[in-house]
Amino acid sequence: FDDRDGFIWWDGKLIPWREAKLHVLSHGLHYASAVFEGERSYGGNIFKLDAHTDRLIESGRILGFEIPFTREQINQACVDVLKANNLTDAYLRPLAWRGAEQLSVSAQQTKIHLMVACWEWPNLFGADRMKGVRLGLADWRRPHPQTAPTAAKAAGLYMIGTMSKHKAEAEGFNDALMYTWDGFVGEVTGANIFFVLDGKLHTPKPDCFLDGITRKTVIQLAKARGIEVVERHILPEELPNFGEAFVTGTAAEITPVRQIGELHFEPSTITETLKSDYEALVLMSPEEVEKRAA
Ligand code: PMP
Repeated sequence: FDDRDGFIWWDGKLIPWREAKLHVLSHGLHYASAVFEGERSYGGNIFKLDAHTDRLIESGRILGFEIPFTREQINQACVDVLKANNLTDAYLRPLAWRGAEQLSVSAQQTKIHLMVACWEWPNLFGADRMKGVRLGLADWRRPHPQTAPTAAKAAGLYMIGTMSKHKAEAEGFNDALMYTWDGFVGEVTGANIFFVLDGKLHTPKPDCFLDGITRKTVIQLAKARGIEVVERHILPEELPNFGEAFVTGTAAEITPVRQIGELHFEPSTITETLKSDYEALVLMSPEEVEKRAA
């Protein structure tokens, strides 16, 4: 992925993709002192850019550092890197990390660096998406909020995500459903999950994992359609009761779920309605998106 044409925004400058290299003694690499975002641009507009930038800044603060760029500068970096790469429909990846100025658990002397890259990435699940994805069950659980900074989009939280996803892939699934530390249904390794029961949406309370921007958007879209949304603790034993299920995320967008372990699900009206409402919303201007969220 490092050997290709294009530009990456790094600490205020656009540099050629191949030259965006880091020192091996970077603190972020050794101790996961890094936070990131995943954003999508549709037709040249970055969907919910302010919300992503705010979450990036807040994730850094949760890890105890201040990103040395303002919200406006970070927004502009995202816009500039898209333009430099001549892309209108793309995935964007801002990342902030502690540098190589000091290497020990204590990292008071490190500088905070920021980069933004972007590339074409149609959907997390590719062609499998239309039929619905198949989820295996992870052995790892989402940690307790006093065990890890679960409200941050922090690099370190993805270690168990990658391990869980690899196990699910080895078993022939597309992704893994992770339970919470206390045994409730949590989320997928890079997306939140919703279920349909008697015309209502049920979704896990995000009390130890990311309350996704797509998740919040889908809740608004459902309410606008008069669909009741129940945020609650969901037990794994309840999964057979649900008819439809889908996952939400910037990379995953709204993707129906076909299978969880041995259980089968059939996407139907509610999944399809919300999916098409989401697809229409992301194509609107940022002003229109704001208006609808108000
Ligand atoms: N959970 C995890 C672990 C994720 O990585 C993501 C993707 N950022 C989400 C949920 C969904 O978040 P969002 O809708 O803000 O992309």
